[in-house]
Amino acid sequence: MIPMGAGSEPDINGERLLRRLRDLSAFGRTAEGGITRPGFSEAGRQADAFLIGQARRANLHAEIDAAGNVLFGRAAIDRTRPTLLIGSHLDTVVNGGWLDGAYGVVSALEVVQVLAERHIDLGCDVAAIAFANEEGALFPQAFWGSMVAAGMLSSLPEQPADHDGDPLAPALALAGGDLEALPTAVWPSPSVRGYLELHIEQGPILAAGPERIGIVDAITGRAVLAVDFTGEAAHAGTTPLAARADALLGAAHLITATRELAEQGLCHVASVGHVQVEPNSANTLAGHARLLVDLRDADAARLTKAEDAVRDQAGSIAARCRLGVRCRRLVRSEPTAMDAEMRRHITGSAAAHGLAARILSSGAGHDAQIMAGITPSGMIFVPSIGGVSHVPQEDTSPADLIAGARVLLGATLRAAGRR
Ligand SMILES: [Zn+2]
Repeated sequence: MIPMGAGSEPDINGERLLRRLRDLSAFGRTAEGGITRPGFSEAGRQADAFLIGQARRANLHAEIDAAGNVLFGRAAIDRTRPTLLIGSHLDTVVNGGWLDGAYGVVSALEVVQVLAERHIDLGCDVAAIAFANEEGALFPQAFWGSMVAAGMLSSLPEQPADHDGDPLAPALALAGGDLEALPTAVWPSPSVRGYLELHIEQGPILAAGPERIGIVDAITGRAVLAVDFTGEAAHAGTTPLAARADALLGAAHLITATRELAEQGLCHVASVGHVQVEPNSANTLAGHARLLVDLRDADAARLTKAEDAVRDQAGSIAARCRLGVRCRRLVRSEPTAMDAEMRRHITGSAAAHGLAARILSSGAGHDAQIMAGITPSGMIFVPSIGGVSHVPQEDTSPADLIAGARVLLGATLRAAGRR
């Protein structure tokens, strides 16, 4: 049984929403039950084609822009007309979950379809968008689609390529895009009335409390530093301790120091999830070790201080362990506040449906942080069972999935305004 929505508001078709989500999860399905559907992969193209087919069968318009973003509207997309964009992304990490991104796109399509079926005219156009390559699992240019939409072309690599150095252009062309025509995929900022994104929380907060809906106040900033320790590869049996320059020992110290930064309250969380060791052999001391240090905080100044602290620690560890060291920033995304009016629209929509809501911050990055650069943006969260995400076990109850889409529809009605 799918519960009905509040009487005075139009409602989504919950069964259709859940069926599409289940059908979509077939594309990129892994043996472990997860989804491997990186941006610009074959599974990604199949997912795009599936949703485009669904939209066209419902007499909606669907198109792919030069960046590979998929757009759905009641009529052809016109970037000169005032438009409220709603959406998320269809790509996943390797062996990720079925809801991260996909849920927001399928719900946005559902909202556009309900508006069309009910002939609801709003104060502006409403378009659903599936941003290309948000995760950056195959091609490391994460947020690719939203960065193009937001006009951040100069911040993208000139010759985008995947982790093996293979160029993006052919893969983008297969997906229906065109690297040479990227400017045509830019949304002129005056046309965009706002951006709304519905997403699973990917954390434990909503799952632990009574509230079913999260209203995001800010998206946490992130910095990633690549730290290279260089020592001397040497025999593990014959090299005296005092004569060693063990790069992996330096890495181990920095992993511990990184954790301590967060424990001491310098930033919200700090982690090392990637280490590369050379020669990576049981009986040879490591000559080289590379770590990726991931720092997150909702405050830009604190994030900068944490970056400085990692550099300082790496320097003193290198001196202590007789190593060379080099720190390079790979990623820096600024903490981004969500728009106050968009938050009010989400609050109003949740209240109209009798859904308890709470304010929370997002520890993960989202296309909304990119779109916030050009337009008032808001995010709605629903609970993640067990707080887990980016794994095959990622899940949300059907009732919560329907509730979130219902709140997205209500927030869309409020943000786009009646004509
Ligand atoms: Zn996501």
